[in-house]
Amino acid sequence: MDIQVQGDLMEKIVSLCKRRGFIFQSSEIYGGFNGFWDYGPYGSMLKKAVEQLWWNEMVETRNNVVGLDSTIICHPKTWKASGHVDRFGDIMCDCKDCKTRFRVDQMPDPKTCTNCGSHNLTEPREFNLMMKTYVGPVFDEEHIAYLRAESCQPIFLDFNLIRIATRQQLPFGIAQIGKAFRNEITPRMFTFRSREFTQMEMEFFCADEGSMDWFNYWREQRVNYYKNKLGFRDDEIRLHPHDKLAHYAKAAVDIEFLFPFGWGELEGIHHRGTWDLSQHQKFSEQNLEYLDQATGKRFIPTVVETSVGLDRTILAIFCHAYCEDKAPTQKEGMDEDVRIVLRFPARIAPIQVAVLPLSKKLNEQAEMLQKKVSSYYRTELDVTGNIGKRYRRQDEIGTPFCLTYDFESDNDNAVTVRERDSMAQERVPIAELKKYLDNKIYGW
Ligand code: ATP
Repeated sequence: MDIQVQGDLMEKIVSLCKRRGFIFQSSEIYGGFNGFWDYGPYGSMLKKAVEQLWWNEMVETRNNVVGLDSTIICHPKTWKASGHVDRFGDIMCDCKDCKTRFRVDQMPDPKTCTNCGSHNLTEPREFNLMMKTYVGPVFDEEHIAYLRAESCQPIFLDFNLIRIATRQQLPFGIAQIGKAFRNEITPRMFTFRSREFTQMEMEFFCADEGSMDWFNYWREQRVNYYKNKLGFRDDEIRLHPHDKLAHYAKAAVDIEFLFPFGWGELEGIHHRGTWDLSQHQKFSEQNLEYLDQATGKRFIPTVVETSVGLDRTILAIFCHAYCEDKAPTQKEGMDEDVRIVLRFPARIAPIQVAVLPLSKKLNEQAEMLQKKVSSYYRTELDVTGNIGKRYRRQDEIGTPFCLTYDFESDNDNAVTVRERDSMAQERVPIAELKKYLDNKIYGW
């Protein structure tokens, strides 16, 4: 049975992430680098699994969405056209007393320092979030380029090439997963607001007529994905429609997650009108119109966008999965103690199946079994410590199934399967493991 997580959940998650090699500060030996995070062995496996889940959901299972893997640096005019160079900034102010810097739109009272209560604040100023670099031998204004601030702009640049190459007709989408960079003034809340992060975005091109139906369709699809594929509960996610819309937009809604520090944006669903393609048509002087074969009409397609941060998704997954309950222990004088368990959905768990030889004498057979199982699932051979400790270790990294190879296994060709959440154990013949685990992990 779950017990309430004691203490600060965020602190516990940050410390578990570091201790078990999921996520830790970049360049820690130099004191860290604010806003940059590294994903360790288990973290990178989890990240790849979530990426693959999104890609499968958005591209592989749809005939009308195709993929792209573009460069991070693209022609600097891109960011002029998109408005990022001139406008992509946060309005900030500093407290002159405690020197804390705030985003004005996030201050409960823009005249009072949220940290120390002082009214001695600077005038609000705009900070551009684009990260600059130079391309070529000369470091001057002419050679400035930008690390992309969002992964979607290259989709608009490549729209025509992709449409022609894939012979897609409207409506269709182009999806991309990739790094984005923002010089956030106040990176915080672990990976929630980072300076380098990964986005998973899909731009859906359609005719203006019917575009609100597509907006509603994608909003539903994305909410269902969080509920059905990631298991988020109704009380953990909510829709937050934007109060103010960009002049070109017909609608915008955020999907928010209830993090331990409050509701925070996970994903934006935006109706972007014809803004992006019109801007790139204007700045590139290339014709980006679409010819409707049926009506013979030419027009700039309207875009509905779904844009989610991979790092925020992973943080939400941790918040949802972290749990403390009670389990039997072999510690002296205790029958049970608190167990930390990450209840990741089995499909995305970094290790889906751990293989545990009961004794060192069985290491060889267990390793042979692990090799077999690793063709189908993400696996690990866990050989050190008593079996109880190993189960706990696997619980902490969220492994849904442990296969224990014991002395009987040599005779009955079966292993004990221990399930993470219920801690129930079951004897399963090795020959039936694939069927058993496919069913449990993927529901096949
Ligand atoms: P916020 O208001 O929180 O700054 P945003 O509205 O600027 O976010 P978008 O530009 O719509 O965010 O980006 C789409 C998604 O990218 C967000 O929903 C979020 O998941 C992710 N994202 C944006 N900025 C960051 C960041 N600094 N760190 C991590 N993820 C981010």
